[in-house]
Amino acid sequence: MSRDYKTLADRKNEYLAYEGHEVITWCAGCGNYGIQKALERAMVLEGVLPNNALFCYDIGCHGNGSDKIGKEGIYTIHGLHGRVISVAAGAAVANPQMKVIAEGGDGGTMSEGINHLIHAVRSDYPMMFILHNNENYGLTTGQASACTRKERPMNGSPDGVASEPMNVCDFVLGLNPSFVARSFSGDIKHMTDTLRAGLQHKGFAFIEIMQVCPTYNRQTPQKWYLERTNYLKHTPKTIESARKAAKDLTNKISYGILYQDKKLPNYMDRLANRNDIKTTPRDEVKRFNIKGLIKKFE
Ligand code: SF4
Repeated sequence: MSRDYKTLADRKNEYLAYEGHEVITWCAGCGNYGIQKALERAMVLEGVLPNNALFCYDIGCHGNGSDKIGKEGIYTIHGLHGRVISVAAGAAVANPQMKVIAEGGDGGTMSEGINHLIHAVRSDYPMMFILHNNENYGLTTGQASACTRKERPMNGSPDGVASEPMNVCDFVLGLNPSFVARSFSGDIKHMTDTLRAGLQHKGFAFIEIMQVCPTYNRQTPQKWYLERTNYLKHTPKTIESARKAAKDLTNKISYGILYQDKKLPNYMDRLANRNDIKTTPRDEVKRFNIKGLIKKFE
């Protein structure tokens, strides 16, 4: 048993607060189970209490995690397809004292929501984003996403996908990010460590998790990934070497922190007009009576 898991046992009550009581509806063997457990563990091991965190979910199979995480006292938002990053970024900027975690799939994030991803990386918002990359639109029964491998037959493209797949980490590394990592849904320990590093990062922490989908992505099952793992011993020092490590998604898939710049000032640090302000936008909005506005949406 690792040292981390002993620490987790010491914090049993906090851990239980993150465990949900809703019936799990993911398919048997789905990678989402491991990702959700790793996230719960990372939150506890980083000492983040449930009432100091906000979990934002996109639409997709992973989004069912929104009612599986925690019991009472957990803040979650389950938003529109592809838009989770913009919702989460707004919350992170409004209240930087909260740990904001957003999750999305490769379908919503790399197509409909790719604009939000680009601007979150270049803005370096203070939040963590987890990309569940199962290389298809699982919730709508297995259509090809921007990450589906070329020539793979999928529902909606039975003769095989004609376009080249996107390499997500390579793409993000091209946007001058402050934190990029990759992990694998079959390794809870590695995911936990990676998510902990993401939670510690003060800017936009982008974490891709290669996720098995035994229902619609049968050509790359757990065993296929396990035979190709390449755990990085060190974080590459430059973006160029990180891109080199991120490139191969077929023979030797690199996992670990691919790139991190701890010195880069994040979005909040760069806002010159807030340099001397000690309150958060969330505190400041309390000066205005918005009850009437809220009533309109009740
Ligand atoms: Fe998981 Fe795939 Fe089933 Fe969705 S379709 S719950 S990603 S195994």
